[in-house]
Amino acid sequence: MEDTLLVVNCGSSSLKVALFSARLERLASALAERLGQEDASARADRTSVPLPAKAKHEDALAAIVEHFRYTGVMSGNPKAIGHRVVHGGEAFTAPSLLTDEIIAAIEDCASLAPLHNPVNLKGIQGTRSLFPDVPQVAVFDTAFHQTLPQHAYLYALPRRFYDDWGVRRYGFHGTSHSFMVSETARLLDRPTNSLSIISAHLGNGCSMTAIRDGKSVDTSMGLTPLEGLVMGTRCGDIDPGLFDFLNGKGIQADELNAILNKESGLLGLSGSTNDMRTLVDQADQGDEASAQALAVFCFRLARYVGAMMASLTALDALVFTGGIGENSARVRQDTIALLGLMGFQLDVDRNSNHGRESSQRIDADGSRFPVLVIPTDEELVIARAADQESRNA
Ligand code: AMP
Repeated sequence: MEDTLLVVNCGSSSLKVALFSARLERLASALAERLGQEDASARADRTSVPLPAKAKHEDALAAIVEHFRYTGVMSGNPKAIGHRVVHGGEAFTAPSLLTDEIIAAIEDCASLAPLHNPVNLKGIQGTRSLFPDVPQVAVFDTAFHQTLPQHAYLYALPRRFYDDWGVRRYGFHGTSHSFMVSETARLLDRPTNSLSIISAHLGNGCSMTAIRDGKSVDTSMGLTPLEGLVMGTRCGDIDPGLFDFLNGKGIQADELNAILNKESGLLGLSGSTNDMRTLVDQADQGDEASAQALAVFCFRLARYVGAMMASLTALDALVFTGGIGENSARVRQDTIALLGLMGFQLDVDRNSNHGRESSQRIDADGSRFPVLVIPTDEELVIARAADQESRNA
């Protein structure tokens, strides 16, 4: 099929690729995992895609593109390629057509996201060598949050940290939060630029954003995606005094960083899992640590809904999305149960009968504010941006 749009999302050891038609219908999806390891593997929809042992991102990308060609979903070149880039610093407020200068600017942001930007650049180099003449577009996780007012992005630290090194709140999951704005507007039949919502993206990473008149005005993630809500393996907010305390116990910065990112959150609290399905099952079977992990997760969420109210003058909807937000009726129920004072009420049947594929209202008829569940589609947002920006090429 001609006139396709290719979307590439490189993680540290994984690669997601999606192919869309020119009318933005999803044609194919592929996922490569454990890249760089002996047992690297890839699947495109339900078919296994052969990879060499220790395949790198570039190898997996080439194999997946070859597979798309072989199966006939892609013939010729895509008309544009969109890349997820995690950190755009203060330089990027919108998707950008990739040039050598823009790539250099993304490299400059790498010190802010050393685990993410270099690997995003690998995907960019990979598609540039596969498709040298096709326009490529970078879509930044941080860009949507560049509308944060200064009081929301400054940390109470010595000013020179911001002035010299750009230490500030940037926020992430911007493509998902911006998709929540357009979908909520569609669902409530309202113009996006008059919409005020609180958007909770709850997946393995979790973040909440206050959106006023369609623009991000506060968000829970900070300089890095470690701050804010409790996540699968990340701690979210903690007391910075902990660093000195743990240092005194012999835990050095590198080890602590790994613990806070990979061994904390739901996994750390439960001692057994970062998967919300397993966690809820274990809690229901009487596992106390899992029940506590669930309670901390939902309490932090409810507390942040309260915090986000400080940035809004009206609220058109509280929106849940991401793997947990879309699927876990239990998390939604336990969170909303803590928000009665603010007038939130859930309809138990609407909440538990929600199906993953569709957007839906789940608040009770007497609720002061609408509560919505909306399936996110970050790849669609990236495909849309690639399509629009490439027209300027
Ligand atoms: P994501 O990063 O958006 O893919 O979300 C991953 C998270 O979603 C994991 O914690 C999963 O346990 C959770 N998840 C996926 N499906 C369900 C489900 N049916 N019920 C509860 N949690 C789910």
